[in-house]
Amino acid sequence: MKIGIYPGTFDPVTHGHTDIITRSLRVFDKVVVAVAPNPSKHPLFNLAERLAMVQLVMKGLEQVDVTPFDGLLVDYVERSDAHAIIRGLRAISDFEHEFQMALINRKLAKTVETVFLMPSEEYSYLSSTIIKEVARHGGNLTEFLHPEVARRLHDRIGSLKP
Ligand code: ADP
Repeated sequence: MKIGIYPGTFDPVTHGHTDIITRSLRVFDKVVVAVAPNPSKHPLFNLAERLAMVQLVMKGLEQVDVTPFDGLLVDYVERSDAHAIIRGLRAISDFEHEFQMALINRKLAKTVETVFLMPSEEYSYLSSTIIKEVARHGGNLTEFLHPEVARRLHDRIGSLKP
């Protein structure tokens, strides 16, 4: 059974993330979505909240597991008996950082491969950061987020307003 690990912050999970997960399932038998605390990114949602939203969006997909993960990604991948790290590539702007990460990870663990997938064009400009910006200005999120995730995001942003 081929297992892929899809790591990220998912603050919050968007249709761009789910598009990559759906595509991954054409290549892997099982995908583990590994949600990292990433405090340095100052996430809007805490780890438990981000996990809950990914779980909600992935509900019913038996080939997808959602789990928290901390520490070195390659250690986690090796511990999980996974075959590859999955990452999404949006625009060329993602490439430099992702290329660096993939090579560092390969240096740390020779047998861990990184597989890059491109999202559907309609999501190629989508990021959690942009979505939070749209939400802050009261924009419509229905095309980008699961309705319940959109509701939670609006609530969170509303609760932070002075
Ligand atoms: P990180 O903090 O690791 O960048 P993210 O949650 O922002 O975590 O993203 C996790 C992965 O999903 C990354 O590989 C990112 O490039 C990818 N990703 C995020 N949004 C999209 C999208 N709209 N299309 C394709 N890949 C995406």
